[in-house]
Amino acid sequence: MKKTAFFPGSFDPFTKGHEDIVLRALTLFDEIVIGIGQNSNKNRYFNLEKMKGYIESTFAGKPVRVVTYQNLTANVAHEYGAKFIIRGLRNTTDFEYENTISQMNRYLNEELDTVFLITSPPYAAISSTVIREVHRYGGDVTEFLPYSL
Ligand code: ADP
Repeated sequence: MKKTAFFPGSFDPFTKGHEDIVLRALTLFDEIVIGIGQNSNKNRYFNLEKMKGYIESTFAGKPVRVVTYQNLTANVAHEYGAKFIIRGLRNTTDFEYENTISQMNRYLNEELDTVFLITSPPYAAISSTVIREVHRYGGDVTEFLPYSL
């Protein structure tokens, strides 16, 4: 049976750090579904549909699907036949947050396990929040993104 993993996130924007996690996850799973979560409390900075297109172009020819969603991550993972959630870890702050979410997701769906990949050193300092700030004030962010805006 095909082993599918769900990689959820805001991806506002999707960065080279995210790309690295997906490429490494592809060595563990047959298919990765990248889910761009639309949090109703949060307005995006980068357009959702455009970001979906950028991510699709990044992984053209690879077994990667890109979807957008508004529901509970645990339910959406199930919907796409994924028994694994992929998340990236950069530091202890990420860990504290991810630990809580992972436990909750398993409570909501006991078949669901979260697989954590530690960031590769060159990407450890890349954060979507910082990229948004730099971009907002006209800075060049092309080096941090796997596609051109
Ligand atoms: P969220 O809003 O759900 O945290 P993000 O788009 O910020 O979504 O991140 C999605 C996932 O990617 C998270 O698990 C996050 O820790 C991870 N991630 C973000 N940046 C990096 C990076 N530079 N290297 C590795 N993992 C990362």
